[in-house]
Amino acid sequence: MDDERAAETSPGPATEQTGERAPEQATGRPGEQATGRAAEQHPEPVTAEDPSRRRALGLLAGGGAAVCLAAGAGIFALTRAPDGDPAPATLPPAGTPDPRAVAVVLANRARAVRERNRIAFLATVAAAPAAFQQAQARLFDNLTKLPLDGWEERPGEPQGTSGVIQVSLRYRLTGFDTGPVARTRHLAFAHRSGAWTIIGDGSSAGLADDADIADAGSLTIVRKGPALVVGDAPRLDEIARRLAAAVPAVTTVTGTSWARRAVALAPADAALAARVAGNDAGAGQDIARFAALAVVTPGPDGSPGQDRVVVSPAFGRLNDLGRRVVLTHELTHVATGGARDGRTPIWLIEGFADYVGYRNAGVPVRSAARELAAEVAAGRVPGALPTRSDFDGASGRLSQAYQEAWLACRMVADRYGETTLVRLYRAAGREPEAAALRRILGLPPDTFTADWRDYLRKELT
Ligand SMILES: [Zn+2]
Repeated sequence: MDDERAAETSPGPATEQTGERAPEQATGRPGEQATGRAAEQHPEPVTAEDPSRRRALGLLAGGGAAVCLAAGAGIFALTRAPDGDPAPATLPPAGTPDPRAVAVVLANRARAVRERNRIAFLATVAAAPAAFQQAQARLFDNLTKLPLDGWEERPGEPQGTSGVIQVSLRYRLTGFDTGPVARTRHLAFAHRSGAWTIIGDGSSAGLADDADIADAGSLTIVRKGPALVVGDAPRLDEIARRLAAAVPAVTTVTGTSWARRAVALAPADAALAARVAGNDAGAGQDIARFAALAVVTPGPDGSPGQDRVVVSPAFGRLNDLGRRVVLTHELTHVATGGARDGRTPIWLIEGFADYVGYRNAGVPVRSAARELAAEVAAGRVPGALPTRSDFDGASGRLSQAYQEAWLACRMVADRYGETTLVRLYRAAGREPEAAALRRILGLPPDTFTADWRDYLRKELT
């Protein structure tokens, strides 16, 4: 009966995001806000013709780590529906569904996905409005393209008497994932013709879903060696090729103690990219501006899940060098567990990723660190290594923070060797920063900082 109205609206998992939605929770616990902002600076569009902007966006991509660290705590949020959301495309549900009936319906859906049985899958939503059925058809078609292992929706708590059931969507990508990805979703059930059946998502109860790449438009999957790229953005082949090439480049520095493979998600829609990355959509207009982020998806029950490199549409505006540096930077986070790391100092996490990203890139230091070079040339040498707040987009010196961190790591590699830089990184993940500096470099922190300030003067002026 609501089909006419429903066709004009599109809430729920198949929503086309506008980028103007209200904030959704993107952190582990309801009530928390994601602390990271990938890209609150640099409102100008980045074009391949403007080297400084290219670099800015490259650095913004690095801003992902702040986001990833928030995400690494476990994004397993019960998201709330955005304010001002359009009228739901689902029928008004009621009552508390019979758990056994729900389990049967969800098992039917999982079996339909496993057996690639489109008719059986869509039979589970046959009583829902047309718009929801269409969204589910698109979802199913995307699922059949993915190398899925164990796709299922585990029933969770009923949401009051709304008829809405929270479900934990879980799956693995075969050949890449070492454990399940988990996302919180919602399905509305109603009693129709003597049976409990799905009539929509959680929007009727004001509940939004965690975003998943399968919510994108028609997916393309590209696999090149150790890289799997999934998305509906253009140029997935190029992303796969660059990511595959970055695997040995990162391994040369970090060693082989990581999976040496990576999954990149590349939605065509910037808002979906931000949501898939666990970024707070409340960043509003800023969400379109990060190029790529390394994140850890949620796993079951809020545990850390799987590494993903989320590539946003802004990536396409980088030049050749920028694309290479950005993907290598993010892959370095994957290799070192940067997005899972709450202990290593942020200047080491970001500086090391930029060190690997710029290694052999042939970019002059003063050009790669242009903003910081201008400050140092004007006599404004930073007094201390950048801290977490310096990597907040609100700091106003985001580019400089990355450049400071990069040059600290570059100095260690120049003076003590790359192997020592890697040892310092690993040590600082296990012991306090000062202890690591003393043990690996033989320097008290004050001396290290003084050396770094001298190095900035020497390299940038
Ligand atoms: Zn980074």
